[in-house]
Amino acid sequence: MELVEVITKTGKYRGILLPSGEIFDRGFIILKLENGYNIRIRKSQVKQIKRIKKLPQPKQERGKEIKFEESLPVVSILSTGGTIASRVDYLSGGVHASFELSDILATVPELLKLAQLRSKVVMQVMSEDMHVGLWKRIARAVFEELTKEDVDGVVVTHGTDTMHFTSAILSFVLRNLNKPVVLTGSQRSSDRGSSDAFLNLICSVKAATLDIAEVMVCMHGSSHDDFCYLHRGCRVRKMHTSRRDAFQSINDKPIAKVFSDGKVEFLNTYRRRDESRIKLDLKLEPRVALIYSYPGADPGIIDFFIDRGYKGIVIAGTGLGHVPTSFKKYSFIPKLKRAYEEGVAVCITSQCLFGRTNPYVYRNLRLVSMVGKAIYCEDMLPEVAYCKLIYVLGKTKDLDEVKKLMLTNMAGELKERSEFHDQAGTF
Ligand code: GLU
Repeated sequence: MELVEVITKTGKYRGILLPSGEIFDRGFIILKLENGYNIRIRKSQVKQIKRIKKLPQPKQERGKEIKFEESLPVVSILSTGGTIASRVDYLSGGVHASFELSDILATVPELLKLAQLRSKVVMQVMSEDMHVGLWKRIARAVFEELTKEDVDGVVVTHGTDTMHFTSAILSFVLRNLNKPVVLTGSQRSSDRGSSDAFLNLICSVKAATLDIAEVMVCMHGSSHDDFCYLHRGCRVRKMHTSRRDAFQSINDKPIAKVFSDGKVEFLNTYRRRDESRIKLDLKLEPRVALIYSYPGADPGIIDFFIDRGYKGIVIAGTGLGHVPTSFKKYSFIPKLKRAYEEGVAVCITSQCLFGRTNPYVYRNLRLVSMVGKAIYCEDMLPEVAYCKLIYVLGKTKDLDEVKKLMLTNMAGELKERSEFHDQAGTF
């Protein structure tokens, strides 16, 4: 590594010269500035590159070598991939999952005061690539940690895009949970100055030591580095592509606020640790689809999934849970009837996310539930209904039983009545 000063036709830049190997970098040099940002400078603009000094390769301290205070609770950190376990690949400028969690631990000394940490890389997957098979692997790894007597809580680091799916499925498959399971991630990798990884990790580790026996998501609560929200795992959703406070509790209040100094402010009721014997129930049915209803939607999509042997379909309906019904060519009703007759469960949620479905307000809605026999999932999020249906269909294919289980609260995923604070942005 070399510290250089690059003199161009327009100015001078001091920084570390990085290798550039990708096709789209040809004709450029890449410089890591002292503020941590990388810039590309067109070679034709460069007048001179002054070599200042050769820098030693940075030594990487490994988290495993860190000495912890023995009186502290024990928290296991399981890494599954995503940005929080990534770093910028300077060859491509892209982000690659290639960073061991122990590297991050070494850069967050605050963690040393919170818990004795153990870490394990379960997988290195970007969360858009998750699937039922990988969820099972994560669930097994979490279960293994939870059943260790000396482990007080588990933190799972995960890509943020689909973290709320993983938190939902874990909420169902980990039965009689008796310790905290906290999922966290980051929108910006830990080698960027603006990374949210540090606060998210600090608050998550703190959360994993609390007296809360639930699956939770712990992510930035504001765009500053002041606190994180602890969201119930089956009530949370990523609501922004890039903001640090992208995660929101929907139709429920977050469980708590966790501040950077370790202070905790509780906002909701929650399940406490107890002597329950945790069970792992991985009988799942992966042949479940999640689809949208929209103007002009082709109802043949239902035939498609039935023909492919799917056992369940969750529809994120419009408004109160509508699908098209009025015009023959577009009506979902005959398709829903076919699904029911062939034993395929169809569940209706709302793409509004906030609020609840209600099949009784409009006649066409009543048709969907009465003639189409679709199951209206109260105030459950579409992604949560998807995960729950995967779980429920692993137990039974009997459609009456499926309906009963889908409408039975298992992990705080549904409420019979909505409260005022369940409106967007009011908590
Ligand atoms: N899309 C990737 C994922 O969800 C990276 C995004 C992130 O971790 O924030 O894994």
